[in-house]
Amino acid sequence: MSVISASDAVKIYESGDKTLRALDGVSVSVDSGEFAAVVGPSGSGKSTLLNLLGLLDDPSEGSVTVDGTSLSTLSKRERTDLRRETVGFIFQSFYLVPTLTARENVAVPGLVRDDRETLLDRADELLTRVGLGDRLDHYPNELSGGQKQRVAIARSMINGPDILLADEPTGNLDQDTGAQVLDVFDAFTEEGVAILTVTHDEQVTAFAERTIRLVDGEIRNDR
Ligand code: ADP
Ligand code: MG
Repeated sequence: MSVISASDAVKIYESGDKTLRALDGVSVSVDSGEFAAVVGPSGSGKSTLLNLLGLLDDPSEGSVTVDGTSLSTLSKRERTDLRRETVGFIFQSFYLVPTLTARENVAVPGLVRDDRETLLDRADELLTRVGLGDRLDHYPNELSGGQKQRVAIARSMINGPDILLADEPTGNLDQDTGAQVLDVFDAFTEEGVAILTVTHDEQVTAFAERTIRLVDGEIRNDR
């Protein structure tokens, strides 16, 4: 079942008198439980594609559809709600808040919706699932890189998303901690969460069941 799809998506950036077609007619559909890697040279449009599928940005042409609903039919408010319910994000630099503990960091994206007690309980559950049940009250500077990334992954799951979008999630990690992150991803895909990750890491592409190769804003290969 398709969770998110883009159809003939074009993204044009205008800066000054220059226009750039960062995506040039991309069609891609991500199914639940799928683990897919997005690869391609720098500047080929990988992050742009992730932003479109993450509902952070609009295509200039073409459409993005979430669970059967075309984004163009939604108000800004509806789209924000849909993004919060549907998509989790993970970045290369983990973006944890240094003054918050692991469990508070994980709880933050849920605060607009749920009460603090419920959220902290769920944060504890998620942190336990990613192997950090003994680090709940640690601050980011008391955690290793791999642990910080697992906190960020737990945070991306706090609102029960259907899809996780990750931009170079293992880019700052050594091989062993990268493998721990892949184990965590694997457990979430088993539950039907789709994961789409931009990566240069061969360990990740070897693990992915699907690789989408972008070149000059076009899909060159998808298998
Ligand atoms: P990748 O992630 O594959 O390195 P990006 O999607 O970040 O590529 O960028 C694709 C192209 O679009 C690049 O040429 C980049 O310079 C350009 N680009 C990305 N974001 C913007 C922006 N906000 N304004 C103008 N150009 C942009
Ligand atoms: Mg990028």
